[in-house]
Amino acid sequence: MCKASPLFLPLERNPLEKKMKRILCRCCDLSLGNTEIALNLKLRGRAVGTFFCLRCLAERMESAPEELSQLAWFFKENGCELFSRQYVDDSKSFQNF
Ligand SMILES: [Zn+2]
Repeated sequence: MCKASPLFLPLERNPLEKKMKRILCRCCDLSLGNTEIALNLKLRGRAVGTFFCLRCLAERMESAPEELSQLAWFFKENGCELFSRQYVDDSKSFQNF
């Protein structure tokens, strides 16, 4: 199901624009939002170097994307520190939540 994604991702080259790093799903290259990144860290450990989108994460955890989404909401509501951080500028990729 998951195809390996290339290690080297094309970077946007605009030195004037100091953009935050984009983080892509290891599986399907979807651009990830802060909540998804926080969920990866929460569920898979803070040392992981790879991240998955909600759908791929759910697949790996044998869960449903809706369940993970609810879980994320729960962590957020409970003031989990991981979920209050801004990892990326996700104003455009917030479709999952
Ligand atoms: Zn994915």
